Amino acid sequence: MAKRIVILGAGESGTGAAVLAKKQGFDTFVSDMSSIKDKYKTVLDERNIPWEEGQHTEELILNADEIIKSPGIPNNAPIILKLKAQGTPVISEIEFAGRYTHAKMICITGSNGKTTTTSLIYHIFKKAGLNVGLAGNIGQSLAYQVAECNFDYYVIELSSFQLDNMYKFHANIAVLMNITPDHLDRYDYKMQNYIDAKFRIIQNQTDDDAFIFWNDDPIIQKELHKYGIHGQYYPFAEKREEGLAAFTEENKIYFTKPIEFNMEQEELALTGTHNLFNSMAAGISANIAGIRKSCIREALSDFKGVEHRLEKVARVRGVDYINDSKATNVNSCWYALKSMKTKTILILGGKDKGNDYNEIAGLVREKCCGLIFLGLHNEKLHAFFDSFGLPTADVQSMKDAVNAAYRMAKNGETVLLSPCCASFDLFKSYEDRGDQFKECVRKL
Ligand code: ADP
Repeated sequence: MAKRIVILGAGESGTGAAVLAKKQGFDTFVSDMSSIKDKYKTVLDERNIPWEEGQHTEELILNADEIIKSPGIPNNAPIILKLKAQGTPVISEIEFAGRYTHAKMICITGSNGKTTTTSLIYHIFKKAGLNVGLAGNIGQSLAYQVAECNFDYYVIELSSFQLDNMYKFHANIAVLMNITPDHLDRYDYKMQNYIDAKFRIIQNQTDDDAFIFWNDDPIIQKELHKYGIHGQYYPFAEKREEGLAAFTEENKIYFTKPIEFNMEQEELALTGTHNLFNSMAAGISANIAGIRKSCIREALSDFKGVEHRLEKVARVRGVDYINDSKATNVNSCWYALKSMKTKTILILGGKDKGNDYNEIAGLVREKCCGLIFLGLHNEKLHAFFDSFGLPTADVQSMKDAVNAAYRMAKNGETVLLSPCCASFDLFKSYEDRGDQFKECVRKL
């Protein structure tokens, strides 16, 4: 009898996993606690994959030989606890897909910069003419592409939730951008659990593999040696040091290995210190993959950027409006504020994930001339920022936020949406939040 695979959660990754499982000849079933999007139902129906929505029917799930869990379902969800108690293996879609491809895997994780770096690497590989797929948190799921395409390389953005349920999967190139507190609600509010999840990016690596990481990150530095690293080290940092694979000096980025070359920072498509790091990590990955230095340089210069990340929306009456809706934690807002060149009205708030605003206190004092609190529960923001003496406004819709910012802003200032929080109290997603911001700004 065919092995029974049950997939919990029918979003992009769950549906992809179902397609691959079915293609491999497994007895496949999909169960989603909420409603499944029509586009995914169509994919499942076309392949005769049975599914249910709005419930988890235990008789159909507990008899699985293996469970593929979508990253959105917490490890302590009742159904997962039951499965684990009876010894059923629970894996992630990436783990599952990794079994059925020999493609080279370039995997990117970190608290911030994952999507930008992943997109940059993909852009360079594409430009170099490699047969490459983009997967993980972006675009189509890895499992779907493994089932339907035949790529030689995959560039994969991995969240800590995906890494949580990966065991045998192995990254040929692992990139760890940084580690700052995030999603602690999913890790029993223990930072160590979150750090452990991030370091899973290097598990199963051998000395043929590469581990790229940000050497200036205090947590990475401190934890690095705990995990038995087998891949070759490719650290990058802001300043020149022995052994770095990339660093900056006198307005240039230097790449040192395997091939040595440099480029002017001015040539980089993405601005801001954080993007310097993203560009370094991407350049090193491409360098390791043997892509020509001229191609790497060119690709780092003509990359178009990613939506909702420090995205310039418009200038209205001398005020720049910037959409950084993807800044769902305090650290990414720190980088956004750091890159502001003029006085800034910051729109922040949303679903708090155990945020500590001390991290941005200095920059708020230095750069901000107004704060707009956009959320259902703004008490914590008031408690922290009221003593700063800045003008504030309390709003519960994007329209009101943009109007309040418009009234506050003076010629030459910037309005920055960089919320430090998840969006789910008032919006469907950070994309929805960013889209609404752009629409409201365009209507000004
Ligand atoms: P992720 O996918 O990890 O959430 P993104 O590339 O989508 O990261 O960027 C999200 C936000 O994080 C950006 O808007 C920016 O403000 C900030 N950011 C981007 N890269 C970095 C980095 N290397 N270090 C710190 N913050 C960053």
